[in-house]
Amino acid sequence: MKIAIASGKGGTGKTTIATAFAQALSKERKSVSLLDCDVEGPNSHIFIQPELDQFEDVNMLIPSVDAEACTGCGKCAEVCQFHAIVVIGGQTLVFPEMCHGCGSCTLICPEKAITEIPNRLGILEGGLSQEGIRFGHGILDIGEPMAVPVISKLKKWRDLMDAEVVLIDSPPGASCPVVESLRGADYIILVTEPTPFGLHDLRQAYKVTQELEIPAGVIINRAGIGDTGVEQYCEEMGLQILMQIPLEREIGHGIAQGKSLLDIKPEYENRFLQLHLQITEALSIVDRS
Ligand code: SF4
Ligand code: SF4
Repeated sequence: MKIAIASGKGGTGKTTIATAFAQALSKERKSVSLLDCDVEGPNSHIFIQPELDQFEDVNMLIPSVDAEACTGCGKCAEVCQFHAIVVIGGQTLVFPEMCHGCGSCTLICPEKAITEIPNRLGILEGGLSQEGIRFGHGILDIGEPMAVPVISKLKKWRDLMDAEVVLIDSPPGASCPVVESLRGADYIILVTEPTPFGLHDLRQAYKVTQELEIPAGVIINRAGIGDTGVEQYCEEMGLQILMQIPLEREIGHGIAQGKSLLDIKPEYENRFLQLHLQITEALSIVDRS
């Protein structure tokens, strides 16, 4: 079962929930993987402390132009939808940060003046936590905008997707990296706060789950700080509220010190096991319908 944990914006407690969920399941002796797909700022490792001993670069093939062979015909620039290759004053220039590695320019070049060379986007790191959670995260290189290939490679990396329960900590927002992280999930947990901002972002995130046709439920974090707008919206949309985590100084303080929710509040273990049952039940209803 593949469960993604997503939210419309950062800082809602997505990672707190993903890591606590992984720990609770692994304490129950389930085989669990946790993939941190927030490649611009992964932080799940802080809470589950895996021993990182597996590493792999993520590269993308980008064009390299042989100036001797190039006639400056401009066909490569015409075919590139991303303006990543241009011909200026008879010289052909490549902008690696804009290139999507589609290979079209190489294919179209009549002079065979383009070869493809690897360009590093980031790195994957993986290992096991003390509780036995299979862990992996991607880290985008500084200044590198291409998050999608890093996420895509992480989701195919080693045996991460083979566990009984695969938890995917998605990037915040509703853009392409989020969609890439959610693709293939059986269920999506949307984490939000009970505030007008939380509601706004929940609407955006829910729209993405609907477009992907993946069933979703909601966890309200920092319950009690705002209004009832999120609850009303969930009722209106038929979205199940799976759990509410109240705002507590002890939780906030512990998380700031790098402790996981289960380390701070061991009684949450049962709540996360219950969450697993709720999702299993929700999926079996979807299967039956
Ligand atoms: S298509 Fe080939 S020959 Fe034409 S400008 Fe591009 S690299 Fe040069
Ligand atoms: S590989 Fe694709 S995206 Fe990159 S420069 Fe060539 S045509 Fe453009």
